[in-house]
Amino acid sequence: MLSQGFMKQAIFLERDGILNLVPAGRPLRWTPPTLAEFRVNEEAAPLLERLRAVGFRLIATTNQPGLSDGRVARREVDRMHELLRARLPLDDILVCPHGEGEGCPCQKPRPGLFTEAAFKWQLNLERCFVVSDKWQDAAAARMAGCTSLLIRSPAMSVVHYDIALPNLEVIVERILKMHAFGQVLAA
Ligand SMILES: [Zn+2]
Repeated sequence: MLSQGFMKQAIFLERDGILNLVPAGRPLRWTPPTLAEFRVNEEAAPLLERLRAVGFRLIATTNQPGLSDGRVARREVDRMHELLRARLPLDDILVCPHGEGEGCPCQKPRPGLFTEAAFKWQLNLERCFVVSDKWQDAAAARMAGCTSLLIRSPAMSVVHYDIALPNLEVIVERILKMHAFGQVLAA
């Protein structure tokens, strides 16, 4: 197993819709094209602090196919992530910059960002959690052996996920409870 020997636990957090706010009425996979349209979810900060306090690494992940075709500038993404790191207690932000048709290993629903993080941060993926509002993260979590927790949303689709809850606060409560009892759900 890939993660054998690695012991640390992380929470993988989808960026758009979890760490930054997606305005109502935007399409399902909307991503802010510029820093001016990037709104940090400030309410996430105290919740993430609670996860960090019990020892989890906090790692943001994001598909940014706009980087490959010029819809989003690298400089804008770098500035968004500088702001995100300043406002939220994140250990890392991992980006898939590839286009939809490129067949890279890191675009979610493929699990490449999670396996990359596992090597970098010495994570046991079977003891990691994935938090998102999108089916792509749940599918990647399943392939990587992580437990997935989704915020109920229209982007959940019908793929397998482990737990669905109404908001980030109750997701964090659930993770803390599972952590306290040494539980993971991934099969
Ligand atoms: Zn990629």
